[in-house]
Amino acid sequence: MSECLFCSIAKGEIPSDFVYQDEDIVAFKDINPQAPVHLLVIPRRHITSVLDTSDEDIALLGRLQSTAVKLAKEFDLDTNGFRLVINCLKDGGQAVFHLHLHLLGGRAMNWPPG
Ligand code: 5GP
Ligand code: ZN
Repeated sequence: MSECLFCSIAKGEIPSDFVYQDEDIVAFKDINPQAPVHLLVIPRRHITSVLDTSDEDIALLGRLQSTAVKLAKEFDLDTNGFRLVINCLKDGGQAVFHLHLHLLGGRAMNWPPG
């Protein structure tokens, strides 16, 4: 079992509700959904937070976002819209220290966020 929860999920060591998988990226349903659609899109490779990315990761970061957009269409969020979120460290509300992008939709979101 990996020390990192999301590394374990990406390796299939913890059963999860996968909605997308390829060589570099997996996406699955959030265990504690904050909206009717709440998916997490993550790189298979362990990256602690978005602060730990560099120019070499630009293609991967782009693919994480484009995967989220494809999933938004698949989950019928392309008419009313959706929100993409990356929480970073303590003040950003990051609880799992493996980079992940939240895709939230199916209800109107508030702004500013809490
Ligand atoms: P963060 O606050 O780090 O941006 O978000 C972490 C997210 O991971 C939370 O929305 C939380 O509900 C979700 N999460 C935590 N543990 C698990 C788990 O074991 N499985 C799944 N599918 N989601 C999890
Ligand atoms: Zn990890």
